[in-house]
Amino acid sequence: MKNYSLTETEITKIVELARVESTPFYFYNERKILENCNKCINMPNAFGVFPRYAMKANSSRQIIKVITGSGMGIDASSLNEVLRANMAGIKPDKILLTSQEVYTKDKLEKLKNLLLEGLEYNICSYSQLESIAEFACQNSISLGIRIHPGIGSGESASRNTGDKYSCFGVHLSDIENVISLLNQRNIVIKRVHTHIGSGGDPLTWRKNIDLEISLLLKYFNKATVINFGGGFKVARMPDEESADIEDLGSYAKRALEEVYRETGRKLIMEVEPGTFIMANSGYLVTEVLDIKSTGVEGYKFVVLDGGMESISRQMLYTSRHPFYVVSRNGAILSDEFDTSDNDKEDIVVVGRCCESGDSLTIKADHNITTRKLRLPSRGDFLVVGGAGAYCSSMCLANYNSHERPAEYLLQLDENVRLIRKRETLEQIVENEL
Ligand SMILES: *Cc1c(COP(=O)(O)O)cnc(C)c1O
Repeated sequence: MKNYSLTETEITKIVELARVESTPFYFYNERKILENCNKCINMPNAFGVFPRYAMKANSSRQIIKVITGSGMGIDASSLNEVLRANMAGIKPDKILLTSQEVYTKDKLEKLKNLLLEGLEYNICSYSQLESIAEFACQNSISLGIRIHPGIGSGESASRNTGDKYSCFGVHLSDIENVISLLNQRNIVIKRVHTHIGSGGDPLTWRKNIDLEISLLLKYFNKATVINFGGGFKVARMPDEESADIEDLGSYAKRALEEVYRETGRKLIMEVEPGTFIMANSGYLVTEVLDIKSTGVEGYKFVVLDGGMESISRQMLYTSRHPFYVVSRNGAILSDEFDTSDNDKEDIVVVGRCCESGDSLTIKADHNITTRKLRLPSRGDFLVVGGAGAYCSSMCLANYNSHERPAEYLLQLDENVRLIRKRETLEQIVENEL
């Protein structure tokens, strides 16, 4: 099946922009973002669902505004993310902070002020609780707790946040200590939270729902909210499969209805999608700078003006992103969703950094490989799909002194809006003395 992720409107707008503005740039589609938000807001649920956008996936101000405008809250992974969301106009009471950080000095003061303004805070370790316990007690602030469930799932080992190789959340071996401090200080836990990893197996996700409910019932008799984290897998490539969030929602709904039948407790469900909202809502648009080869025994290379400094997931996780080769007049010359095209060749796609690993075609053993594409010409555009999440926000920016790319948003009214200016060389060096 031909499944165009790149729409006609997107191609037209991307080419219009790329012909006049500097590449590379990120290009996001508001319509797709909102469709994904609505799927989360309308997820099957028993006693209410509140989806929070994991803003680390893409932290641009206008992106946060579009998503929270749909009714979603925010999941923040650092105090700075909370402050950044707040600068974008999001009130602290819409934000949940779940972090590895333990705050001291001025950061602790900031946290306290935000808590008074309604920020929701998940305790992820004994030290975190220690640092805030007295304050929470004095101000009758109830907290959440992130539990390390002992099971995890991720698209790769480094994205599994629930197994023994990752230390996110209060581990079950530490939970009695944490509970005894909570009791000493009379602190109520209102929310139980887990996040088992990104892009993982839906079966593990289901198992985690059951496990998390049993932990909530065992330890936290005042909790009213159960947060299942994010990690809904999104298919970027034609051979990948997305998680079925309807199905996960239905599973959670049945489980929470059973809790009600057995205990009379109506638990509100939260989820924290990042990838799901943004991954396929964005592209990285690059231009083909050069075509090279390493001889008859070697490979054909396409050199782009954007690589590891703008998109790093392939280097970190050996992730694959789909490529669309688009001519300067807007014709799609190569499309990985079109399997009928027999004129494709084996091509290595690389960035422009002085780093032999700066390739967008990396296989699971971290070596460079080829992909089937039609050979583009210099000046054609290569549009990288699935680049809305963890690309702009997680790239190896400024390597080889390249500026961070601009970001554009294709709005619902079909106007394209610049939402982040391209960084300048002056900005790269401005703090150097
Ligand atoms: C990263 C993260 C998420 C989002 O994960 P996705 O795979 O992008 O959906 C949700 N919750 C927490 C606590 C996270 O750290």
